[in-house]
Amino acid sequence: MRWIRCLDCGERYPLEEILRRDGRSEDPPVCGHCAGVLKPDVIFFGEALPEETLREATWNADHCDLFLVVGSSLVVYPAANMPFYAKQAGAGLVIVNLSATPADKMADVVLNAPAGEAMGRILEEVRQRLTGSCA
Ligand SMILES: [Zn+2]
Repeated sequence: MRWIRCLDCGERYPLEEILRRDGRSEDPPVCGHCAGVLKPDVIFFGEALPEETLREATWNADHCDLFLVVGSSLVVYPAANMPFYAKQAGAGLVIVNLSATPADKMADVVLNAPAGEAMGRILEEVRQRLTGSCA
């Protein structure tokens, strides 16, 4: 949400730059290169994922040692397939989500907690263990 992308030429702009340039205008902002339509550089619900991004994510899921799901109910496809690909390829699966997901049964660890809180604690634990092993 901190980046804006041109739908025509693909140029990316920091959100602050567009707000500084057009923030007070009533007209929608346009691309400085091609005058194309700008939108936040995120995938909105119902939008297709870029093909290359999907191919890369699938490859990574097939080749990872550990797959971490953070803050997803895993009901929107194709992203919801990724933990299944990882598990089929032999990876460990950790799911951090407030509510149950369809992949919980095959997960090695399920943490039903707010993502920000759980990840903060996981990061702290990893830090302590890494620091401990190096000392
Ligand atoms: Zn453009």
